[in-house]
This record gives sequence, C-alpha cells and structure tokens, in this order.
Amino acid sequence: MIVILKPNAPQDKVQTLIHQLESQRLTVHFSQGVNSTLLGLVGDTASVDIDHLLADDAVADVKRISEPYKLANRRFHPLDTTISVEGREIGPKTFQVIAGPCSVESQEQLANVAQSVKESGAGFLRGGAFKPRTSPYSFQGLEEKGIELLLEAKRLTGLPIVTEIMSDSQIDEFQQVDIIQVGARNMQNFRLLKALGHLNKPILLKRGLSNTIEEWLMSAEYIMAGGNEQIILCERGIRTFETALRNNLDLSAVPLVKRLSHLPIIIDPSHAAGMAWMVQPLARAAIAAGADGLMVEVHNNPKKALCDGAQSLNPEEFHLLMEDVKRRVAFEGREM
Ligand code: PEP
Ligand code: MN
Repeated sequence: MIVILKPNAPQDKVQTLIHQLESQRLTVHFSQGVNSTLLGLVGDTASVDIDHLLADDAVADVKRISEPYKLANRRFHPLDTTISVEGREIGPKTFQVIAGPCSVESQEQLANVAQSVKESGAGFLRGGAFKPRTSPYSFQGLEEKGIELLLEAKRLTGLPIVTEIMSDSQIDEFQQVDIIQVGARNMQNFRLLKALGHLNKPILLKRGLSNTIEEWLMSAEYIMAGGNEQIILCERGIRTFETALRNNLDLSAVPLVKRLSHLPIIIDPSHAAGMAWMVQPLARAAIAAGADGLMVEVHNNPKKALCDGAQSLNPEEFHLLMEDVKRRVAFEGREM
C-alpha cells in the first residue's frame, strides 16, 4: 500500500503518522521525490482502514497495490479449493449441476422435479423456500414448510439440497440444509455473512446485481474470516445498460476469479438471461470458460410457475441440456 503525502505536510504530523502505522506492525518506507513524498507500507495491510488514513491531515491519497482479501486470495493459497458435500465434490476436477425450481411450491411439484433432475444427472436439488421478491405482493415462498419439503425430496432422491437464507435469524432452521445459498440481494448483508462464518457448512455465495469482483471476494472473505472456508461462488448475471436481457452474464468473471482466488465458481445461466431458450448456449459458454458447475432452474410446468417461469426449463429440456453438458464435460476429462 502506498500513502501519498500532501506537499506541505508538517514534519511532526508525518512522524506521528509513521509511528501510528508502525504500531500496526507495518514497515514504513519513506521516499522523498522531487514532486511528491510517499510512504510505502509493507506487511499485513488488509486491516488498514483507508478512510481513516485519508482523514489524516498529512495524507493526500492512498493506493492499494495488493488485494484487500487474504483468505480468499490465491496468492496465499495457490491450490484450488474443492468442497465436499455428501460424497460429491465441487472443484476443478468435477462439474456439478444444481437443479430444481426457483421456489418450492408443493410436495407434488418438488418431488416430481427432484426425481426428474436426478434421472437426468443433476448432483444437487435446489429450491427456494424463502424468496427475496422485488414486490411484497409476489409469492414469498412456502418458508419453513418449503424446507421440510426439500428435506423430504432429499430422502426420496438422495440429492443434497441447496436453498436460500435471507437473515441471520434463520440459521437454526437451516441446520439440515446441505448448502446454504446467499442470494444476490444479500451478498453484502454483512451480519448474515458473519453469522455464516461460524458454521461448518458450504455456502453458495451469489454475486450481487451491481457488485464488483473485489466486493464479491470481500464478501467471501467475511464468511472465511469467521472460520468457514467452504465457499462456492456463483455468477448469475449483473446489471448493465442492456435491457434486452434480465441481466448480463459476466463470463469473464470465471477466468478472473480463478486467477484471483482458489474458490470454486459456478454459473447460473437461468437468472443471467431470464429466458429459458438461452440457458443452453450460456451453459456451454460456462463450461468453455472453465466454470466448476451450473445452477439451473427447472419446473414441471414453467408456464404455471409461481416464480421465474420464463427462465425455467421443463424436465425434457433439462434432460437435453444435461446430455449436451455431459458430452462437453467428458470431452474436457472432468467428472460429473
Ligand atoms: C434464486 O436463485 O432463485 C435467486 C433468487 O437468485 P438471485 O439471488 O441470483 O437473484
Ligand atoms: Mn429464481
């Protein structure tokens, strides 16, 4: 980290600042140039508060030269992380598909979808019990009953379940959930992230609608800082100026996250475009970009879905998608 001092910063103020930085176990290199004076900070700068430094009378600007996240950073953890859930691995050697309805609607609907996605080769069942809807008048999910139905579908099919948590007050209700999803709208719910950091359970962390990759990795860092290092990142499309799609799938996030972090990353092509017919091409692109898996919305009757019907595949469409995915994944020498 580099601290640029104000041209006329008084000597005593600079000395006080240097002492203060050294007391944070940082080594400070003072460099006097013709036009500017710099302090080079070496050490663990992740916990340095930039706003605090900028408020100092002697400081003109502060520049980070290394990433502010440590535990999620590949620099300090060169090997890829593989996450194990009930004997299934999510990481670079495998390609996992999580599939199921946007929201759990009934016992019959979930059992039907769970059976069919399992037969097509999905490794995990998804389904929202608590739904973060833009309108308070839209279907909000079956809530606790939805979790019960997911557990029942797990008993029926053996598929581990993935479902979204909305608040730290719900943690007890999620004890038997295999992977807890943090939705795009909660990516920066720091209180929730901190609480999830105390669990010993994988967290599927979706990228926020308008969040940078650094902010996303900092959210992963929040969970990891509490001791839970089992994070699966999920790119689900971001907001841009484009209105023809629900979101824009940022596929460049896959190679970039793989370079910056050791955490696995999967793609959600359903929320990315918002249109069922685009799921397959985006899924193919995700495999080509090096993603570790997919999360796909599947509904037994998309036209009647209470949530996200336009982007949901029916079981037959999902089956065809999986045949295509299996061929491509096999070609890359990865397991499903
Ligand atoms: C979902 O997975 O159904 C969902 C609400 O996703 P996101 O948080 O990406 O909008
Ligand atoms: Mn959805």
